[in-house]
Amino acid sequence: MSEVFSAIQGEAALVGERQVFVRLTGCNIRCTYCDQPEALERVAGPCRIERTAGRRDWSVVASPLALDRVVEAVAVLWDQVPHHSISLTGGEPLLQGSRVERLVERFASHGWPVMLETNGTLLPPLRRIGPDLAYVSMDLKLPSVDGELVAPTTQAGFLAASLASGATTWVKVVIGPDTDPDEFDAGIAMVAAAAAGHDAPVEVFLQPLTPFGGAAAAPTPDQVLELHERALRIHRRVRVVPQTHKAIGQL
Ligand code: SF4
Repeated sequence: MSEVFSAIQGEAALVGERQVFVRLTGCNIRCTYCDQPEALERVAGPCRIERTAGRRDWSVVASPLALDRVVEAVAVLWDQVPHHSISLTGGEPLLQGSRVERLVERFASHGWPVMLETNGTLLPPLRRIGPDLAYVSMDLKLPSVDGELVAPTTQAGFLAASLASGATTWVKVVIGPDTDPDEFDAGIAMVAAAAAGHDAPVEVFLQPLTPFGGAAAAPTPDQVLELHERALRIHRRVRVVPQTHKAIGQL
């Protein structure tokens, strides 16, 4: 566990909602633009827990934490301010398979809706926890943007499983100045194909890259417009939403 705190969601479908963020350490890939480099290694270490919702008055404790301690930390924040849901984030939360499974069960038993933020690559743990999730925000990974080589078939299987689980699922696509148009079109077409067999709409959120780490430049306004238009020609439910939490000085 890396941190537990209350903040305003700054990305995709729940932008602007108040959430308790539960951030787990460890990720199975390394995107060039990753803005959570301290959460990438799955190692024991300090975890910071906010005491007052949104005030950043941290207590620092040793991690791993007992699940009871995590639930207690969430409950303290949840009871101070009405929250929309929990953001289970990372790193890649599904990397901690059985532990995440038990954590999500506990959250669900309290009646707290859980949104999973995921890179959409680890299918077996998703199958186990999917029924307890209210929302899934799945990244569509593009090698020309993130520098990784996530297999499109893996992401297609993940998206299908998430939709089948009943969780409200959307897809977030980080776009950069070097986004490969063919790769981008293929990814949007994959989402459109998955959405075609599904009753509820599947929204896509294009997120212009915020320069960080190994990613030095954002896409130009014209590039954003062009990619939005390409996506809309393939799939009708596409919006552009930048990282708003950074614009308003939130975590
Ligand atoms: S999947 Fe997410 S947490 Fe992992 S490296 Fe990429 S951006 Fe960072």
